[in-house]
Amino acid sequence: MSMSEDSPPWRGQKLIVIGEELDSVALKQFRESLLNWFQDYQRDLPWRKNRDPYRIWISEIMLQQTRVAAVIPYYEKFLARFPDIVSLATGPQEEVLRLWSGLGYYSRARNLQRAAQQMVAKHGGTFPRQRQELLALAGIGEYTASAILSIAFDDKHAVLDGNVARVAARLEAIRGDLREPKRWRELQSSADRLLAHESAGDWNQAMMELGATICLPRSPQCLLCPVANFCEARRLGIAEAIPEKRKKRATVIVQLISVVLFDAKNNSLLLPPPTEMPKSAADDHIPSLVAKLWHFPTVSASTSTHKALGALLRTELRVKSTKSHKPVLLDKVRHTVTYRAISVAAYFVHVKQLPNLPGAKTVPLEAVSSLAISNLTRKIARTALKQLSRPIAT
Ligand code: SF4
Repeated sequence: MSMSEDSPPWRGQKLIVIGEELDSVALKQFRESLLNWFQDYQRDLPWRKNRDPYRIWISEIMLQQTRVAAVIPYYEKFLARFPDIVSLATGPQEEVLRLWSGLGYYSRARNLQRAAQQMVAKHGGTFPRQRQELLALAGIGEYTASAILSIAFDDKHAVLDGNVARVAARLEAIRGDLREPKRWRELQSSADRLLAHESAGDWNQAMMELGATICLPRSPQCLLCPVANFCEARRLGIAEAIPEKRKKRATVIVQLISVVLFDAKNNSLLLPPPTEMPKSAADDHIPSLVAKLWHFPTVSASTSTHKALGALLRTELRVKSTKSHKPVLLDKVRHTVTYRAISVAAYFVHVKQLPNLPGAKTVPLEAVSSLAISNLTRKIARTALKQLSRPIAT
């Protein structure tokens, strides 16, 4: 359902500027306008079906850095397999990562499981009710603690994420880079001041919903906005100029070499995610981009391709001779992760027998996607299969 542009919600109302001066009557009107709108127009999302803190927690972690539409199928599969804290705490990590595979930022999945284990060890497998106890859990920071406590229990905490920050900044015409620590604190004060104490959970969700569906980053839909008559940026005609664009980090080109080793039975070799991530050198992107999950053997292409490939095959993979099984270069695989543009030269190498490396798996190439792998590894597998003219299992 969407609001009609023919009947702007503020028609006939006096513009009231929000801020320190906002009196209690105006603040009450403002809160009612937004809460009523949320009641009528909120999206039907699976984590809004009930107020179970476990379900809210999973959704909040999945939604960090990821769009709602992308999260929904992951959320449903994850909840079907791990419906509660205990099942998540005791499940195999590999399964947790496999169900996360494709969402990215895999430390989120590892922290979820670690936090579930902490809840089993310290809180009898239940969700702690105290903010400090929540903040002591892996992967739960100020924002997530506020979101869980307010949405599940209506505790009086105002959340501040990118959506809420943008809405608050426009309501009060706060200019500049919203992520600057001083400005972020100012926005947290705004969010605290605006919070509807008697229904904190709905309020926080309403602010986030407004940012996600109406007060959009590039083109705020002020004509449809339920709180337009309270908005200073709209009054000044500067809504689109807030927030100021952040300076983009320069793109870093990363060139990698990967090897898809396969034997006569068409099994390929995948290396395991390390139990502890090595501290990588500043220019070494491999651990963070590839090696957190199951992956094809990969090295940086900083030296000559020939040398790097030879060293990878002979030294790391213990492939004795490549004379009888010449590496075949596949189509280039390209992938982007935040500011890094990755280009992978992937090679097929046919061997009589796959090397027996500690922890490695031999898997038919078609079944690689059933493991916990990154999108980059998935692309390499797809490229390899395409060139072998076989479909990849999904
Ligand atoms: Fe955002 Fe426009 Fe609503 Fe202001 S009036 S809060 S800029 S959508």
